[in-house]
Amino acid sequence: MDAFKLTRVDLLNVLNELNITIPRQTKLKTDRLRHRLERTLDAAQRYSNILGSDDANINPSAYPVWDAHQDVTKGLYRQIWGGLVPEIERSGGAFSKMCNLIVGLGQFWANNIHEVIVTDDRTSAIVIQILAVHAIKANRPLLVVGYAAVTSSKKMSLKRALKLFFSTDKIPTLATIRATGVELALFLHLLAQNGKHLSEEFTPCPQLSSQYSASALLPITWLNMRDISRLNKTSGCVECGNPTQRECNRCQSVQYCGAVCQRNHWEDHQHICRAISSGVWYTVGLEPHPGAEVEGLDATIINRYDDLEEEVTREGAQDRYRIPPNVYGDRYHLVKFQVPLVGSKTHMYIYDKRKSFQMFLREEHNQVAFAAAIKAMGDWPKMYRWAQRVGDWEWLICFDREPQYSPRW
Ligand SMILES: [Zn+2]
Ligand SMILES: [Zn+2]
Repeated sequence: MDAFKLTRVDLLNVLNELNITIPRQTKLKTDRLRHRLERTLDAAQRYSNILGSDDANINPSAYPVWDAHQDVTKGLYRQIWGGLVPEIERSGGAFSKMCNLIVGLGQFWANNIHEVIVTDDRTSAIVIQILAVHAIKANRPLLVVGYAAVTSSKKMSLKRALKLFFSTDKIPTLATIRATGVELALFLHLLAQNGKHLSEEFTPCPQLSSQYSASALLPITWLNMRDISRLNKTSGCVECGNPTQRECNRCQSVQYCGAVCQRNHWEDHQHICRAISSGVWYTVGLEPHPGAEVEGLDATIINRYDDLEEEVTREGAQDRYRIPPNVYGDRYHLVKFQVPLVGSKTHMYIYDKRKSFQMFLREEHNQVAFAAAIKAMGDWPKMYRWAQRVGDWEWLICFDREPQYSPRW
């Protein structure tokens, strides 16, 4: 196993952790997956917000030095609705660990510790020098760092490799952050990627010795809805990713590069294909939370991934009247229906897997569709059905065709 290398599975896992869903069996080349990860990491750092575009270069010296009275750690947590510390810690994947790792570096800096080693204690280590902290916005820090990767080899233990790196007999006692191999590989990937974003005019100060490369770290967190939607757009064959214009001629909802891919994808596709080509679809107007009249449901519905900073600038936006985000475009997706366990069945609660929207179908406003939904549900309190967004508040939903299996969310 190569140290610091993200395998295909690692790439898919990290992308999935960030809500970019690519089928496990995808034949997309590893380079294309890596490229997708890069665009995703840029978005997770809100690069285009900060710099105007994802391709722009950054010159840290153009920004004022961070005010030492301000809490760097706090600035490194990007605030998104419901996406504060506990949320980041909960997922437990390599990406969320990396978010915490970066906050950890800020903490060390605040405590005047400028050299840190991130290591799995076995095969790999990244030595970090925190050189400076600048303020890209009033409360947003940018850490300028130097980094060097050290690995063990067949002939040399990590300990010896580190001694050689520091050209000493005794490895200096450095502040240490433990990380797994995948976390280290992802972090190194981010450092290299951000290093490429540094403008050529920038020279780190104090100067780095030749063993180190320069990079910068920004606050990083989950993608917002807009980016989830943008980065999930796949073009080309749904099975292998190859460019194509051919569609499934029964339902026209998916594209294939040829007969082989179409055949391979059929097991997954057949149920939605039948629903689209022969099911009955209802146009329904879904509504935000109906208010106190519905008991036992939380009164506020917020979209987990919206940027808090963008939200507060939106004037007087009351959450329940905001148009729900559209992360699927016009793609078909599953939604879950739930009826209240007690009381009268006059409304159903509807949401998608990511809870990008949480809406209600009300009998009084959708009588025909509501009757079809009740019939489809039978004696169960919940069901999953195919849906397609067709307007700000409108969805097409097929009640009389079931997905091939009931997901669990
Ligand atoms: Zn294909
Ligand atoms: Zn089809």
